[in-house]
Amino acid sequence: MNKALLLDRDGIINHDLAYVHKVADFSFTDHIFSLCQQAKALDYFIIVVTNQAGIARGLYTEQAVRELHQWMIAEFKKADIDIQKAYYCPHHPEHGGLQYQHNCLCRKPMPGMLLQAKREFDLDMSQSVMIGDRESDVKAALAAKVNRRILVKSDYTQADNLDDTAATEIVECLSEIKF
Ligand SMILES: [Mg+2]
Ligand SMILES: [Zn+2]
Repeated sequence: MNKALLLDRDGIINHDLAYVHKVADFSFTDHIFSLCQQAKALDYFIIVVTNQAGIARGLYTEQAVRELHQWMIAEFKKADIDIQKAYYCPHHPEHGGLQYQHNCLCRKPMPGMLLQAKREFDLDMSQSVMIGDRESDVKAALAAKVNRRILVKSDYTQADNLDDTAATEIVECLSEIKF
C-alpha cells in the first residue's frame, strides 16, 4: 500500500482569492514546494482534493479547472515534485441545475474524493496526511480515516469553532509542518 499527502488547494497550494480559476490569479503559497519536497523524499504520493463549486455556480467551467490543474502540476514538476492527481468536486447542493446541483458524496466535508484516491492509488489512510484550511477539510479526512489531519489557520478557520475540531494538529503556517 501507499501513503499520501492529501492537499486542499485554495488557501494551501495557492492564495485563496475566492473562485480562482485562471493562471493569472494563481499564486503559490510560501513553503508549499518545500513541504511537498519533504513529503516526496519520504515516499508520499501527493494528491489534491478541492471543492470547486464555482463550476456549479456558473463562474467557470470544468475545462477551465482542468487546464489550471494541468498548469499547476507542470509548475510542481519544474520543482521535481510529482502530483499524482488533482480531484475536484464541481457540485453544489443549491446551484448548478441538472448537471451540477447535487447532494454529492465528493464535496468536502464528505469524503468521496479521498475515498476515490484511496481506491485508485491503494492508499493506507492510517499512514496518510491531510492538510486544509477549513474544518470541512479535516472532517472529510476524519470520515476517510486519515490519521493525521492538519488545519492551517486562515480567515475561514477563525469562523469555525475549533473547540471540537476534527484536526489532530492546528498550525499558523505550512512551515511548521514536519514529517
Ligand atoms: Mg481551502
Ligand atoms: Zn461533488
